[in-house]
This record gives sequence, C-alpha cells and structure tokens, in this order.
Amino acid sequence: MPLPTVSCPLNNMAAALTTAEQALAERFASIHATEYTVFERVLSAFRAHKVSESHFYSVSGYGHDDIGRETLDKVAADCFMAEAAMVRPHWVSGTHAIATALRGCLQPGQHMLCLTGRPYDTLEEVIGLRGKSSQSLTAWGVTYEEIAPFDDDGALELAQLATEKAKASMAKANMLYIQRSCGYATWRQSVSVADIQAMVAYAKTINPTAVVVVDNCYGEFVEATEPTAVGADIVVGSLIKNPGAGLAESGGYIAGKTEWVNRCADAWTAPGVGAKGGAMQNTTRTLLQGLFLAPSVVASAVKGMVLAAHLFNQAGYKVSPVAAASRTDIIQTIELGSGDALKTFCKVLQANSPVDSHLTPQPDQLPGYQDPVLMAGGTFVQGSTIELSADGPMRPPYAAFMQGGLSYAHVRTVLAAMLPELVKLH
Ligand SMILES: *Cc1c(COP(=O)(O)O)cnc(C)c1O
Repeated sequence: MPLPTVSCPLNNMAAALTTAEQALAERFASIHATEYTVFERVLSAFRAHKVSESHFYSVSGYGHDDIGRETLDKVAADCFMAEAAMVRPHWVSGTHAIATALRGCLQPGQHMLCLTGRPYDTLEEVIGLRGKSSQSLTAWGVTYEEIAPFDDDGALELAQLATEKAKASMAKANMLYIQRSCGYATWRQSVSVADIQAMVAYAKTINPTAVVVVDNCYGEFVEATEPTAVGADIVVGSLIKNPGAGLAESGGYIAGKTEWVNRCADAWTAPGVGAKGGAMQNTTRTLLQGLFLAPSVVASAVKGMVLAAHLFNQAGYKVSPVAAASRTDIIQTIELGSGDALKTFCKVLQANSPVDSHLTPQPDQLPGYQDPVLMAGGTFVQGSTIELSADGPMRPPYAAFMQGGLSYAHVRTVLAAMLPELVKLH
C-alpha cells in the first residue's frame, strides 16, 4: 500500500489550523445552526415539563412514583420528537438497549428484516448470526434477513429496495430495522435522516404494519430532526455516546410511539412493571443535564471531526466523510496506510487525553475481530465514545475510526500534536 504523499504546510501547525478554520468557516456556521435548532427543542422540552429541583432526587427501592424519572422520560420524548421515551442508567450499553427493543417489538415466529446490511458487530450474537446463545432472537424462533442497498462506494441506492426479492422480503417482515451510523463497516456510508425517511416511506407502501426500529447510536442531535420525526416507530441508543454528553455514567434510551415504548418497557423490566419501576439511584439530575448539554457537545465533536477530515485530506490521506459533506453521525474514518501510522495516531491521541495519558495503546485481539485492534481514548467514563476516542484494526488500509470530543479545543489540540508526528513517518 503506497503511503500518502504529504503536500501541506503542516510544518507550521498553528498557521495550518488558522487557515483550515478560515476555510471551514461556513461549514462550522452550519453545524452551529443545527446546534441552535436542536438546542431550542431541548430547552423547550425542559420548560414544557417544568423541570425543577424536586425532580433531581430519586426514589429508592421499587422506584414507584418517581416524578423525576417520569419527567426525564417526557423531556427525552420531546428531544427525540417522539410520543414517549425511557432513559435509564440500568442498561449496560447500547447493545443491551437494542436487545431490549428487539425483544420488545418482536414475538417468536415473526420476521426481522435489516434494511442496512449487516448490523453492528455486537448485535450478531443478539440476533443469533454468531454464537450459540439460547437467548438469541433466532434461538427464540424469530427469522432474520438483511438487504444491503448500497453501491460500490457505500452510498445508499434506494433502487435496490425495489427489486422483486427485496419487496417480497419487506412484505413478510414484522420488523424493519435500520442502522443509521456506519459502525465499523468501511464499505458503507451512514444513512441520513432524509434517507431514513425515504426508506421508511417506500417500505411502508409495501408493508404498512411492520414496526420500524432505528439503531440511532452516534446519530443523536447531529441533524435538526430525528428518525422518530420521519416515520421510525422506535429509536434506540447509548447514553455514553451523544445523548449523555459525557455526563451520563452508563445507560441507554428508547424513544418512539407509546405503544412500542410500552412493549419495550415490559421487555426491560417485567410485564406489569414496565417503565413504572426502577430506582434511578440519584442519576436523574446528571441525565437531564447531559441531555441539556448534548446538542452543544455533539456540535463540538462534529466540528472536530470536520477539522480532522480537512487536515488529513490536505496531508494526502483518504478520509470519509470529507470535510464538506453533511453529516449524520460523529464518526470520522481516516485511512492511514500503514500499521506504524495507525500506532502513532493512537499513541498521540492517548498521550493527549485527560485520563491515562501516560499509557501507550497496544494492539489487542477482540472477540469477533480477525485482526488485532488498536484503541485509544483516555476517557472519564470507561469506554465512552462521546469523549475523544479512536480505534482501528491492524490490517490494510489501516483505517482509524475516530469519534467524539467533549470540547472542540480538545480535538484541535490533539490534531495539532498528531499531524506533525505522522508527517515524520514519511
Ligand atoms: C455503539 C453502537 C452500538 C452499541 O454498542 P455498545 O458498545 O453496546 O453501546 C450499536 N450500534 C452502533 C451503530 C453503534 O455505533
């Protein structure tokens, strides 16, 4: 694999940053415009539900009649442009919340159809595509199919949903599943809210009754609207990504139509308990505050990723998305071209983290991956990826997946330290 040719003024990083920020002024203004739209919606939600200090103290034991938790759910529903929501610290991760939503929205004997190709790695075991768990959906009697309507460049090609085979699959599905963010599949692009709207509108002409579930991980508040405003019945995600804004210590959320959220609530606790129990253990204030900050933290992260796309592209690296592209998630892919470059990338990111800056990331074997993976991210919350973090498998094209950044200043500082180190390798 040939190394990228470096053709940029990165020998003077301060000047390169100033020039880049001037070039990106319009891009940044549009990111802020989205932030303001989303923020106004979030603030309106806090005002409409009269959030007050009494909501911050949670109920112990069963957690019955917790007005703080009930208010948090109502605020979140408005933030996600949905009828109802559940925001809970008890979900272990996004995978757990998605597993709850899949069980809540499917019955044994029903059919699940994924419209965006192979779902995120950790869901393979949940569905039963990998592993032998007796608790997977397929072991439970759900049938599964997927369609990957993407062209060779990974761009969505809606026409691929209009083949006879695709239409037959859609017609028999009880659940249509869409993953908004690309995850770690370099071959496909993330799917924008407008694209989700088009997909759902088309699928509903063929099958009006199927429930539409969207894996919303990394997409929350990146665009002015959410999938729940354009036809999705349910959105699901992790609180240690966008909507927790770095403050949430754990958890996930489910938002959407009341009927489906209630079913998910029964799958989460127990029929009869639903969303009416669950002691919040004094997390309610932090979760509300995270929601309040999320539009701004997400905008900072997106700006940081756009700056990275611009600078790395200028330095000769292939990046996806490019700086000029509009975005629907907070992930930036950079093809570094060599194992040494990927190691340097992760080393510098780690060394410029607020936590564990003295550690050096080492490639490690992860379940489900063929090649060792390098990970970097000195985060306040373990594994948090709304905080600046990166990972990449040690195989060509040696792509780094970078995301997050609680502040733009952090991403900017890391890039200023990183690019000169990478240039030295050439
Ligand atoms: C992060 C993520 C998930 C869930 O992963 P967890 O690590 O369990 O939170 C699911 N889907 C996508 C696309 C993701 O990015």
